[in-house]
Amino acid sequence: MNIKFEEKYIADDSAIVIGLPENIKELKNFDELDTLLNGLTEEIISANVLSDTFGKVTTTGVTIQRQYRKVVAVGLGDSSELTALKVQKAVGKLFQFMDGEKDSQAQFILDTFAFEPKEVADAIGMMSAVSNHVLMGYDTSDKKQFRDELDVTLITKEDVKAGYDHGAALGNSIILARDFATMPPNLLYPESFADEVAVQFKERPYIKGEVKDFDTLVQEGFGLLAAVGKASVRKPRLVTIEYKHPDAQSDEPIALVGKGITYDSGGYSLKTRTGMRSMKYDMSGAANVVGMMDAISKLELPVHVVAVLALAENMVDGNGMRPDDVYQSLSGKTVEVSNTDAEGRLVLADAVYYASTTYNPKIMMDFATLTGAVIQAIGEDRTGVFTNQGRKFINNLLISSKVTGEDIWHLPISELEDDRVKQSDIADLINADFKPGGASFAAAFINQFTEETPWVHFDIAGTSNTSSTTPFAKKGSTGVMIRTIVDLIESGTLYE
Ligand SMILES: [Zn+2]
Repeated sequence: MNIKFEEKYIADDSAIVIGLPENIKELKNFDELDTLLNGLTEEIISANVLSDTFGKVTTTGVTIQRQYRKVVAVGLGDSSELTALKVQKAVGKLFQFMDGEKDSQAQFILDTFAFEPKEVADAIGMMSAVSNHVLMGYDTSDKKQFRDELDVTLITKEDVKAGYDHGAALGNSIILARDFATMPPNLLYPESFADEVAVQFKERPYIKGEVKDFDTLVQEGFGLLAAVGKASVRKPRLVTIEYKHPDAQSDEPIALVGKGITYDSGGYSLKTRTGMRSMKYDMSGAANVVGMMDAISKLELPVHVVAVLALAENMVDGNGMRPDDVYQSLSGKTVEVSNTDAEGRLVLADAVYYASTTYNPKIMMDFATLTGAVIQAIGEDRTGVFTNQGRKFINNLLISSKVTGEDIWHLPISELEDDRVKQSDIADLINADFKPGGASFAAAFINQFTEETPWVHFDIAGTSNTSSTTPFAKKGSTGVMIRTIVDLIESGTLYE
């Protein structure tokens, strides 16, 4: 998107884009707006030509210097109830409407949004990236990304560039994650994903990276990650990205761990032909962790963060992992495999153990499209959250999730699940028991490998994708939790 900043409206071919709060006359720039709308602002609203109902986008025309100009308005409702999240939703709806109208030039009259101009600019930066984004390059049409064809001028006397840049940086990190998640699995597999990540972070300040290949993983004892990935001709990788800002307050890092099953056929516990569809998205946890690292490093947040991505393809082969096999994990604990389709917890077990013991993190968070059971429990629109600490530990996370609107729900793990994961007749642990409460079982399994590092597990099986368009995303991958974790880190409350 081509972006410019001006203090005043400049008559040209652009659509005039405004926010319409109720009590429009209370806007501090009402007279400026009313002049643009030919002195008819109140009549236009009372005749329902333009709507102030929250989230509703309407359009009309005015004459300015004897030229016809298009006006696009988004209703904001009661301005005293506006939040940054509501402004983002309104702006997302605006961009989706403008995409449909094929608008290519727009001047946003920022003060009509009845909210802090810097926050509105931030919303415009982020939502211009995320609200209409689709992955390009996999069909033969020459269609273009909406925002690439769009010229936007932000009209305000305030300096809003930093706000816009912040939103645009975050938005671009989200669509980076979505693009990885959406890429077809014949093209994105452990090795190519690792290569693409390396390219992404090359020459970024304060970043170090490492990729362990299959032979290294076997040699170093990553027995579970190796077992899950060995059937594929595309062998597993473990990717580490470390970001350490010189002003980072704590030497102990935040660890972000991502499940990256680049394709999940289920293995010998094979999925059904309908259940297998969309399993390219089973690396969304890893993709979203890449998005978080991208945002954290671009925004140069003063923190020390280590990302660990466990990448494997779960396939079928004569050499594949069987139900009944027993493998030794990196931690030394042995695991009986009862279900080869419960592979995410296996790769995460080695990854969280590696992160805990190598980096001694102050807090560790893992992100995984882990269980269908979490969707059964809390629906498709909430992320299930589990922790080995008390509820207070996730208070600030809950606050950040309210700020971003990415709903989370705290689910239990206790001795009940600890007993269940230890019920193997032959090994230390078993990876599935086919009983209700599968999301808690999976979380408790991973917790066997956290080495008592304070840990939060995010089961994003429901929220990694959306089946219908929202202001934040078209149908498909969402990049869920990137906004929340960035907000949590920016709020400075992560360690409280
Ligand atoms: Zn699976």
